Amino acid sequence: MNRRQLLYGAGIGMVSSALAGARGKTGGSPEEKPKAKSLELSEYEPTSMLHVPESRVERPRYPVIDIHTHITECARIVNGVALAAERAFLASGYELMPMMERKNIHSMVNLTGGFGAGLKETVDRYDKKFPGRFYTFTEPSYARLMEPDYPRIQAEAIEQAHRDGARGLKILKTLGLYLRENITSGKLVKIDDPRFDPMWDTCGQLKMPVAIHVSDPLAFFTPTDRFNERYEELNEHPDWSFYGRDFPSNAELLEARNRVMARHPQTRFITLHVGNFAEDLGNVGMNLDRFPNMTVDLAARVGELGRQPRTARAFFEKHQDRILFGTDATPHADDLPQQALGEKLYEIYFRFLESDDEYFDYAPARVPPQGRWRIYGIHLPDEILRKVYFENAARELGIAE
Ligand SMILES: [Zn+2]
Repeated sequence: MNRRQLLYGAGIGMVSSALAGARGKTGGSPEEKPKAKSLELSEYEPTSMLHVPESRVERPRYPVIDIHTHITECARIVNGVALAAERAFLASGYELMPMMERKNIHSMVNLTGGFGAGLKETVDRYDKKFPGRFYTFTEPSYARLMEPDYPRIQAEAIEQAHRDGARGLKILKTLGLYLRENITSGKLVKIDDPRFDPMWDTCGQLKMPVAIHVSDPLAFFTPTDRFNERYEELNEHPDWSFYGRDFPSNAELLEARNRVMARHPQTRFITLHVGNFAEDLGNVGMNLDRFPNMTVDLAARVGELGRQPRTARAFFEKHQDRILFGTDATPHADDLPQQALGEKLYEIYFRFLESDDEYFDYAPARVPPQGRWRIYGIHLPDEILRKVYFENAARELGIAE
């Protein structure tokens, strides 16, 4: 018997005597042990027993531009397509300003400013009443898509929006996932459809950045079953799933967006939600290297970034000039805690960026709403924090610092 066999034998001996001991204590045989209880997943709310340092970051170390908020929204949306110029105003500037002061939010960018009369009213209510504190983006008027002259009409609408005070263009995931040839029916319109080329070019000429959301989390493109890491979220919002039917894959959507960026090098693109691929920062980084006109924001993705803190920290170090602070915050979004505009949400973002805390919630919610995990801070140095909180967004928006 060699030394390894000896140790192996000794190990077996230890295990069997431990088992005998356990049986001795309960007095029964293994078959008699109490049956495991079942528990509804929705009722499971484990409390962490970890004792680790916890910091509260009430104010960010530097002033913040939140590049991604939704303070207004379209008053009429049909099958995912915004069809009216009228806006719903979700909170007034007077309501938002005290919180912005407390949280050191220098400016909020309201991406869903709409078009036409609704855009004008939004600029009047926010940008003009609170100069420097609110910036409004315009959106395409897809209702006119079927008009033969749409490419020119849409490019001219961007020029008018610029005159009316819009600072950029927002593209919702409507393009690629909802907008169809007959607006709400027919074949899906592709993100790189040439009918939009004059619109992208006009944005470039007028130095209006394009904040573009394409695709969605990868899990939204896979079946809503027991293997889906966002099962509870998709189960609650079945309409968020893009699995099956005639939907393109996540990869196809991102490639179409990449072709747009390649074709319009003079136009700046803020690719929202970490380039809409926070699950694969290697891919996002590769695209940032390929497209000098591309930046990303963090909105609604601290849950993704914070569960891969080492990869995320390296990503921030390498691409520190290309990452913009954003939250996707919406007033009174009580059913979407990861987007509920308020002090608690901002503190989570500050804590993620500034602290080295371990294993904390990425949303102010009873159960983590985007998947059952927790996150870790990435403890960025001052130089990177300044860029991410303010300087990168100021540069893209053309704001004098
Ligand atoms: Zn958004």
